[in-house]
Amino acid sequence: MDFVTKDLLISFLFILLALCLLQILYMATYVYQAKELQNWKIALFPIVSLVLCMVFPVYATDNNIWDLRYIPFILGGLYGGYKLGLIQLSILLFTRFLVGGVGFYAAATASIIIGISIYFLSKPYLNMKLKNKLLLSCTLLVMGITVSQTMASLLNSDILPMRYLVEYYSINIFGIIIVTILWEGIRTYSSLLQNLIKAEKIKTVSHLAASISHEVRNPLTTSRGFIQLLSEDISPEKRGEFVNIALNEIDRATNIINDYLTFAKPTIEKKEEINIQEEIEQAVNVISPLANMHGVGITQNIQKPEHHQFITMGERKKFQQCLINMVKNGIESMQSHGGNLHIDLSSFQNTIQIDIQDQGLGMSQEQINRLGQPYFTTKEKGTGLGMMVSYSIIKGMNGKIEVKSELGKGTCFRIILSKE
Ligand code: ADP
Ligand code: MG
Repeated sequence: MDFVTKDLLISFLFILLALCLLQILYMATYVYQAKELQNWKIALFPIVSLVLCMVFPVYATDNNIWDLRYIPFILGGLYGGYKLGLIQLSILLFTRFLVGGVGFYAAATASIIIGISIYFLSKPYLNMKLKNKLLLSCTLLVMGITVSQTMASLLNSDILPMRYLVEYYSINIFGIIIVTILWEGIRTYSSLLQNLIKAEKIKTVSHLAASISHEVRNPLTTSRGFIQLLSEDISPEKRGEFVNIALNEIDRATNIINDYLTFAKPTIEKKEEINIQEEIEQAVNVISPLANMHGVGITQNIQKPEHHQFITMGERKKFQQCLINMVKNGIESMQSHGGNLHIDLSSFQNTIQIDIQDQGLGMSQEQINRLGQPYFTTKEKGTGLGMMVSYSIIKGMNGKIEVKSELGKGTCFRIILSKE
């Protein structure tokens, strides 16, 4: 292997390095709810590898400066859109200009032609099949290299061995194929994770549905009984009393269903003021049928000093989901022997504190350490995503979660949020 190939392979290492970074960023956006990363994570990979490739190029001759810059340039533009393409084009031209030489004009022409193609192709590219994606990116690449090589050979009289050109073309083509496949893999993995997180909520919704049908049947049976009594010969006072009982029971059933629907219905999330006390009350309403089914009681205690409010900023539905995930875990840890789940809400100078204490199985230190990692579960039918979602929601609200747990005694989750 001679030096051109070797040096180009080092260049390829820079691209792979930046790709690893991209994978970590994709993961971090979901696990840590880092919304600010969402927009520029795609830009980071192409720019980092573009700059690294160009700072450490390979000199085939004095005028032929080779590197793998077209790989990040083309893929960055195709995946990230023409705006990112434009940024990359400016970086590319600027860096190449600093290096100087007649080769600049060749590189500039080739990059501008690629840039214009990206402008038209970046939208349809995202919806293409992998085979067409590969075909398109390879075509752009070959076109770019051919234009710049032809121009360079016209502008200067360097004679390049054919072997060099063959190596240059093949490393570029293999490189872009490998990077496209890896990038597609990263994208698929991250959308899979996103779908799993959605599925986790659907699972909670279906668990609750089973217990709710049970809970609704009771008031309906009671009111049916009383309505039946009305057809018998009874005094007007008794009649009024029975009607009242029947109506109350029907209202109860309606409330249970309404609470459930508010939780289950998907909504567009926006940041707003949330009253923690109301949210807890609503979460308890939604979850109590499930608690009843498992023989678990729920108690609440609110320590509310004068004039204190439990107001903070956040996305209401998400916060609600976080509470339900945690309360549900508490209930599930007690389902074999029953017990009581206690929710304690207290307010301090600048913070609001919610304690969710159960008398369940508890966790070992090792389990506590793994809490919040995706897919960590000790349950046969668990998803191991509930706590991850909860952590990321609280993180998104600039709060934190502390855990105290003792095996065989129970667990206490403490959510600390700052007041608005
Ligand atoms: P899942 O409930 O689907 O298992 P979670 O992310 O909600 O996923 O929880 C992950 C794991 O953390 C659980 O499997 C359990 O081992 C542990 N865990 C969470 N909350 C509690 C709790 N209150 N008591 C005991 N173990 C808990
Ligand atoms: Mg759970």
